[in-house]
Amino acid sequence: MDVSSLLDGLNDKQREAVGAPLSNMLVLAGAGSGKTRVLTHRIAWLMQVEQQSPYSILAVTFTNKAAAEMRERVEKVVGTNMGRMWIGTFHGLAHRLLRTHYQDANLPQTFQIIDSDDQLRLLKRILKSLNLDEKQYPPRQAQGYINGKKDQGLRPKHIDAGGFPIEQNLLNIYKVYQESCDRAGLVDFAEILLRAHELWLNKPHLLAHYQERFRHILVDEFQDTNAIQYAWIRVLAGNTANVMIVGDDDQSIYGWRGAQIENLHRFLQDFPGAQTIRLEQNYRSTANILNASNAVIANNPDRLGKELWTEDKDGEPISVYCAFNEMDEAKFIVARISDWQDKGGNLSDCAILYRSNAQSRVLEEAFLHKGLAYRIYGGLRFFERQEIKDAMGYMRLINNKDDDAAFERVVNTPARGIGDRTLDIVRSTAKQHQLTLWQASVRLLEEKVLAGRAANAVRGFMELIVQLRTDTADMLLYRMADSVIERSGLRAMYEAEKGEKAQARIENLNELVTAARSFEMPEELEDMGELNAFLSHAALEAGEGQADAFTDAVQLMTLHSAKGLEFPMVFMAGVEEGLFPSKMALDEGDRLDEERRLCYVGMTRAMQKLYISYAESRRIYGREDYASPSRFINEIPEKFVEQIRIRAQVAPSISQRFPARAVAVTATTKAHGFNDTGHKVGSKVKHFKFGEGVVTSFEGSGEKSRVQVNFVDFGSKWLLVSLAKLERC
Ligand code: ATP
Ligand code: MG
Repeated sequence: MDVSSLLDGLNDKQREAVGAPLSNMLVLAGAGSGKTRVLTHRIAWLMQVEQQSPYSILAVTFTNKAAAEMRERVEKVVGTNMGRMWIGTFHGLAHRLLRTHYQDANLPQTFQIIDSDDQLRLLKRILKSLNLDEKQYPPRQAQGYINGKKDQGLRPKHIDAGGFPIEQNLLNIYKVYQESCDRAGLVDFAEILLRAHELWLNKPHLLAHYQERFRHILVDEFQDTNAIQYAWIRVLAGNTANVMIVGDDDQSIYGWRGAQIENLHRFLQDFPGAQTIRLEQNYRSTANILNASNAVIANNPDRLGKELWTEDKDGEPISVYCAFNEMDEAKFIVARISDWQDKGGNLSDCAILYRSNAQSRVLEEAFLHKGLAYRIYGGLRFFERQEIKDAMGYMRLINNKDDDAAFERVVNTPARGIGDRTLDIVRSTAKQHQLTLWQASVRLLEEKVLAGRAANAVRGFMELIVQLRTDTADMLLYRMADSVIERSGLRAMYEAEKGEKAQARIENLNELVTAARSFEMPEELEDMGELNAFLSHAALEAGEGQADAFTDAVQLMTLHSAKGLEFPMVFMAGVEEGLFPSKMALDEGDRLDEERRLCYVGMTRAMQKLYISYAESRRIYGREDYASPSRFINEIPEKFVEQIRIRAQVAPSISQRFPARAVAVTATTKAHGFNDTGHKVGSKVKHFKFGEGVVTSFEGSGEKSRVQVNFVDFGSKWLLVSLAKLERC
């Protein structure tokens, strides 16, 4: 490929960045301005024009999906397979490093990654062993404390708890937790990064080797790096590497997880001579979507400040839908997507973004009802589902008997008569003698502390694991998975449960066998053994590469996981005060800015059409809320908006623009025969049970508002508007 084609499809500023001499560089630009495109082309440029070996390049992205896409894009531009090139997420790359140098990292070869669910279980056990009350020390708080410290690069020995008893206890929990992880060969997500950083600090020969090797470091979404990620890059780069970072301060959305926007400024200080390039043209969205997004983010203080423009046409207005409740909202969204499909659109071009994972359930139901395929990124990920974790628990124990998290998970699943009392004895022995749960069990059986039924049950369990280990040693991975599911009794357990949910669990277990079958050993991890690699893959890539990746399906995901992606049609659901911005953010002032950035991220995912919806009442987290539309909706200038259904009731906060506007609209439209639900005498409507009909009259207002409809098949009926859910047609 010649040089000019590497610069094709780039504007002047982008070319400047792609073709810059070898140096440090910051590309600072708003959403959709081609930052990721620049990064990809730069990698190709380094290889093709600067004749740099792919071996010398390290590229960091934010999700595994983005990493795979980047690899693919580079391969397309360069025209060859990039094989072992280091492109990945911080966690993926750090993990690779730890696998390769496990001895230097002081880890057993079979070390396993635990996710936050396993981490929480472990912490609960530790709280119990320390006689700490869960009410006073909520396990989640301890988890947040530990991960927070690790993200800052702090080990217990670095922390001074002062004279504060709570802080001291938290510190002690951290200590005991870490010892227990180390004994069992477990690393949590934050630990992966911390250990990889310590590897640089403690093993100068390794650092020197990698510094010699990685002459070019490129990082996407830099605004969301945390302290330890920054430090890792900083140390690795030393004074020799050329570092290119791209980012957007307006899209920093992981402050709650320790990300530091200041890293953008820090970079300019720490890497002297770094050139800053700004991109200002947006290539993703219509002018309406872009200008509306710009207007919302303009409400944030302390921005680095950048205006984005586009050559694109205005496009359609942003449609704002006020739903009666969450089910109405889901139905509305499904109907719009169904229309889109009828007109020949792909389902995968539509994305639904929400603030909280819990919102997906209602949407999922609506899609199932309509028979439309959907896929969820994040949230209830395949590898996080209960039954899958059960099966993986067995596989993990087979891989490493000392894996405490796995032991806890499956020792009595399916139930085999090992009660809490027995387990408490095992746990306290483990604690007392610094043993893993497996080692403690061996000891208790040998010393006959455990006797009778309890001893038999524990022995039976351990024999099962040992036997499975022997019998599956030479099996192909998927046969092993099948064998484990069968012989552990998991399949029988779920079969006995019956019902749809149990059926789904069995299907998932079967899917695990398929996943094992299609698992391709990553070239770079060849040395670590297939089972081990598969287990790590499951822990790291949970949910990102779902089994049905090839079916055309609507994409559901949280706003957070939509970062960096783009879709022709985007729905933002649940845009209500208290949900988005979240209650927590409303209570803490500075978090509001981050919520607004999240809104900016969400809106700027849309290429052609953006829908925003909110519900007047919503059942979520097991309670019913009545909320007002989010302030972010009010921040969108009216000229970019089209309201689809106007709020039925006047909200208490009359100062909010939307309710106020709803009143005004009601007043003017009533004269034209509308009532305050937006229906009009003479308009055609559709009812889920009675079918099509024509509106003939109204009465009442607000919640009591009723509408008379003459149905084609059922004749005239009076219906309560709030319940009838009439669709316009
Ligand atoms: P985000 O901030 O959301 O991560 P980004 O700045 O990384 O966005 P990209 O994803 O690289 O932006 O680009 C947005 C879209 O614009 C992509 O579809 C990309 O292919 C397209 N694009 C980027 N630059 C150009 C260009 N010069 N000409 C045409 N299309 C472009
Ligand atoms: Mg990007």
